[in-house]
Amino acid sequence: MVDVTISEAAERLKAGAVVAFPTETVYGLGADATDPAAVAKIYAAKGRPDFNPLISHISDPAQLDGLVVMDDRARKLAAAFWPGALTLVLPRAPGCPVAPAVSAGLPSLAIRMPAHPLARDLLGRVGRPVAAPSANRSGQVSPTTAQHVRDSLGPDIAVLDGGPCPVGLESTVIGLAGPQATLLRPGGIAAEEIEAVLGAPLGLPQDAKLESPGMLLKHYAPRLPVRLNATAPQQGGSQQGGREGLLAFGPPPAGFAAVYALSAGSDLAEAAARLYAGLHVLDHEPGLTGIAVMPIPARGLGLAINDRLARAARGR
Ligand code: AMP
Ligand code: MG
Repeated sequence: MVDVTISEAAERLKAGAVVAFPTETVYGLGADATDPAAVAKIYAAKGRPDFNPLISHISDPAQLDGLVVMDDRARKLAAAFWPGALTLVLPRAPGCPVAPAVSAGLPSLAIRMPAHPLARDLLGRVGRPVAAPSANRSGQVSPTTAQHVRDSLGPDIAVLDGGPCPVGLESTVIGLAGPQATLLRPGGIAAEEIEAVLGAPLGLPQDAKLESPGMLLKHYAPRLPVRLNATAPQQGGSQQGGREGLLAFGPPPAGFAAVYALSAGSDLAEAAARLYAGLHVLDHEPGLTGIAVMPIPARGLGLAINDRLARAARGR
């Protein structure tokens, strides 16, 4: 296993290598966004389809100049939520130095300024935008610890270990490349909060294939099958050979073979932070044949949690 220090991580990124690093959302697999060969290494390491664009990460608003075309909506959202779990998709500026592969050939670029102190320090040292999708093989559950990264990408991957990610869900992605602000992906900042700052409701993508290519893919899938809205063990239970583990939200019903509490007190932020760890834990618990999940309310962060769970339940 390759644990790197922050200065080693910065040197590796500047030299065109990939490094996994912590952000407040999930661990990212970073590479210099302006270096096409480095960006190609991200797609190769993840097995990510080349039509799925990457988010570029910055540490300072001054870096936006020459990367994207900002407008009033973007400035408002950046002022309210950056640094933080918000990604803005904006038109690429003329002469934008970011490799076209980062945008998967689209005329837009996704940008985020993360809040995690290690991520900010690292990005500041690199001084260039860093493209970083989640540090897992494409389609698998996102990593919220350094160990998750190694479990998915193998022991040779260089990881800057910053402990568990506090938000635990990917960023909310807002499309601002057209006249209507659209929710391209629910995430770590609730859509309601973003609408309050914009003073207008968010639209949904008209053409998901063009506007949010990544959302069409199978995603967040554990090995075991996932059953949603579970309020009791399956009929027959262990007699039928089924041994389900439960992701609990609030007090868990009796009769499950294992229980992982997302939040005992039904707190959505706590559940979001523990979601991927819970999926990882139950997926690796010996003897289980499935993962059941209690109902999660569809408001605030619950929207993003339910989005990820629905994709996990769809499987591979
Ligand atoms: P990930 O890197 O795995 O967190 O996924 C990044 C998300 O941002 C995916 O859902 C992408 O489709 C989306 N995204 C990145 N760049 C763009 C872009 N230029 N236009 C639309 N969506 C984007
Ligand atoms: Mg991902």
